[in-house]
Amino acid sequence: MSNTIGHFINGVDVADDNRPAPVYNPATGVLTKHVAMASKATVEDAIAAAEAAFGAWRDTPPAKRARIMFRFKQLLEENADEIAAAITDEHGKVLDDAMGEFGRGVEVVDYACGIPEMLKGEFSRNVGPGIDSWSDFQPLGVVAGITPFNFPAMVPMWMYPMAIACGNTFVLKPSEKDPTAPMIVARLFREAGLPDGVFNLVNGDKEAVDTLLNDPRVQAISFVGSTPVAEYIYSTGTANGKRVQALGGAKNHAVVMPDADIDNAVSALMGAAFGSCGERCMAISVAVCVGEETADTVVAKLKAEIANLRVGPGTDLSNHMGPLVTDVHYDKVKGYVDLGVEEGADLVADGRKLVVDDYEKGYFLGPCLFDKVTADMRIYQEEIFGPVLCVVRAESEEQAMQLIDDHEYGNGTCIFTRDGEAARYFADNIKVGMVGINVPLPVPVAYHSFGGWKRSLFGDLFAYGPDSVRFYTRRKTITQRWPSGGVREKAQFAFPGRQ
Ligand code: NAD
Repeated sequence: MSNTIGHFINGVDVADDNRPAPVYNPATGVLTKHVAMASKATVEDAIAAAEAAFGAWRDTPPAKRARIMFRFKQLLEENADEIAAAITDEHGKVLDDAMGEFGRGVEVVDYACGIPEMLKGEFSRNVGPGIDSWSDFQPLGVVAGITPFNFPAMVPMWMYPMAIACGNTFVLKPSEKDPTAPMIVARLFREAGLPDGVFNLVNGDKEAVDTLLNDPRVQAISFVGSTPVAEYIYSTGTANGKRVQALGGAKNHAVVMPDADIDNAVSALMGAAFGSCGERCMAISVAVCVGEETADTVVAKLKAEIANLRVGPGTDLSNHMGPLVTDVHYDKVKGYVDLGVEEGADLVADGRKLVVDDYEKGYFLGPCLFDKVTADMRIYQEEIFGPVLCVVRAESEEQAMQLIDDHEYGNGTCIFTRDGEAARYFADNIKVGMVGINVPLPVPVAYHSFGGWKRSLFGDLFAYGPDSVRFYTRRKTITQRWPSGGVREKAQFAFPGRQ
């Protein structure tokens, strides 16, 4: 089969026609290509290539690694249009959103260009007479990344630029649903001068993931995806002695206080709930309105805005929202809308009726808005990952915060208010990893770190930013003395104490 995306191992494209999986254009529903599902042996080849490349890469001066990152960043920017087009073709998101995701990924490459500064370590002179001590941050070896469909360029870039800049070698297993963008990027890395074997990519499914989880040569795993798989990756990987960070699902709440600038809050909610068809781990899927009057106003304004939202193929720049990623996902999200009606929530906007002319086979679901959602409903408790916004009514900020704290997920949240005291109290106390104040999608910039609390992250360290240096390196502390002046030391049998 010629139109099958294979793997990228040891600096070359590897064809593989054994177990191809279909890839569709979600706007048209047309099968466009296949992607190879790697066998255990193929993944082992990638691990072997990464292990063979590790020694020389580890010893490559960080400044030289940074120079390759600079070239890589330049190539990424030169090829941005092609990469964004590939994302829209396979994921469905509108082109400027694809460009936005790509840009946020490139920011991590920017950050990785500063790696020499980050690996300077810590030094203490004269910790004892003539004794110096320092801590060094050494790379781990072969590390792996397993990534989801919703950000095919950006989420892998949360991982490999920093892992590789720190001196590790990498095996990426991207999502099988939109494999083209990661493959383009792999080839650009080679063009930037990255030595063969430092970055490898295997396409695949559970067989590939399980091989990475069980192979003793893999030292660490970064995962981003749904919570059940994140939990599996974390428990299996750590049981096998690996360092693991596994970022999972989300149900992000926005609290709208009565004193908020309601027009601004509504327009922020529109983008945060329906951008990328709600397929973002930071999407706002619950709006908690404090007070009945706030809720009535927010729901009325959202309904009016929804009527003007344009849904269609992501290649048409006038559209705000594209299709869902697959027909299976479409059925799942639509099933949740059906469920919400059965559960008794008030369906104010019903996207199930949407038909996009000339794209009747696409996986389009219009924006859906539920009012009067309560905490016992499954549409409130579970991650839907589609264009479905639930409005919950609360009596006070405390009650809104209690809802958020009681939810199993704790990825992102935000509050809309003009009251600094209420905002500060919220940010200080809420049990969520990333908080926005009048900012609906508080995705940290590349020089901070990204992660959730509770069942949105398994592990101790966030992705990218300063935490990534900690995750992708291992501390070694060296204490050194060089005898001088020909003085012979007497043996000391007491524990070395205060000098
Ligand atoms: P997913 O969990 O289905 O897949 C993620 C990766 O795991 C893919 O590479 C997939 O091939 C692999 N995988 C799937 N099932 C597996 C299994 N049983 N065993 C081993 N590997 C398996 O997630 P998805 O549908 O691709 O992505 C959407 C999910 O990702 C949502 O839950 C979303 O919230 C989450 N997400 C979280 C973040 C975050 O930062 N917390 C960011 C993006 C996406």
